Amino acid sequence: MPKVVVLAGDGIGPEVTAAAVEVLREVAPDVTLEEHLIGGVAVDAHGSPFPDVTRDAVLGADAVLLGTVGGPKWDGNPRPLRPETGLLALRKAMGCFANLRPVRVLPGLEKLSPLKEEVARGVDILIVRELLGGIYFDGDRRIEGDTAYNTMRYTRSEVERVSRVAFWAAEQRRGRVTSVDKANVLEVSELWRGTVQDLRDREYRSVKLNHEYVDSVAMLIVKDPARYDVIVTENLFGDILSDLAAVIPGSLGVMPSASLGDGPGLFEPIHGSAPDIAGQGVANPAAAILSVAMLLRHGLKRPDTANRVESAVAQAMRGNATRDLGGTATTTQFTRAVLEGLGQPA
Ligand code: ATP
Ligand code: MG
Repeated sequence: MPKVVVLAGDGIGPEVTAAAVEVLREVAPDVTLEEHLIGGVAVDAHGSPFPDVTRDAVLGADAVLLGTVGGPKWDGNPRPLRPETGLLALRKAMGCFANLRPVRVLPGLEKLSPLKEEVARGVDILIVRELLGGIYFDGDRRIEGDTAYNTMRYTRSEVERVSRVAFWAAEQRRGRVTSVDKANVLEVSELWRGTVQDLRDREYRSVKLNHEYVDSVAMLIVKDPARYDVIVTENLFGDILSDLAAVIPGSLGVMPSASLGDGPGLFEPIHGSAPDIAGQGVANPAAAILSVAMLLRHGLKRPDTANRVESAVAQAMRGNATRDLGGTATTTQFTRAVLEGLGQPA
């Protein structure tokens, strides 16, 4: 029996995670769920934002479902006792090197997108961002007087392992990968581009691969997003492009994510703990429920069940959406609608 560790966290985390867990129980009753603490609630209970019992549990799980961490209560804490420190430690402990963010405008919600409705309709992108390498992590970093250094460094094997995730995902989707780099200027990008192309030619010949420069992608993702299926890129470029793309669906409340590595994957909404609405029962649980869909697809390899969950969410959204999307549904009402939709054909 697969084991899923649930870390609800702080703020709206427990509200949206409870909704997501209800859906998971409904579609995968054989899965064992185990709840643990992370973030501010873990600081309060154990004096650490990522306690050892939580670490042991996630490393022994098949997948981890995370809510959100942080809140004003812990903002003044010293760094080791901040909720966000626990989140970084969790990601590091799990060794997740590929961050996946689907960007889609759900049918019927085109009006909420800052893009023109006819452009928004065509958006269905999966951004795969390298998460453990590049300029954010290389050890060669320092300030020397008036000069500062950071180094962008990648090895062939680091590029290969994240590219594999992108090719694998493309095979389940429309079969196209766009690798994003700055190969006209950067040596790292030259290695990146060659490595991705070699891997495609060796092992993924059914996937169509093209290479584009990051500056051009930043423009085209807004002007003509329909041209993209899977985008794979390094850490810094991916950080910027995925936040740029995050505004396309019109609300943070609908954006899930997956972080994958050699061990269990980590699945979480991209939004934060939203202290302004926490405890009111009005948070949109869609991002958390769609994170369950990603968990089913990538963590438990159950793509059909994942599709069922995604259809039920889209259907519920076309009914009465939550406040952030201009509707009046509470968290509970919206979750009820998703659960009802699961029983119906898409
Ligand atoms: P963090 O620093 O933790 O990432 P943030 O400053 O990016 O947090 P969020 O917590 O994501 O901010 O919230 C940004 C805004 O979006 C807030 O007004 C919040 O209420 C709203 N919001 C975020 N998630 C949801 C949700 N699931 N449902 C409804 N509103 C949401
Ligand atoms: Mg944020």
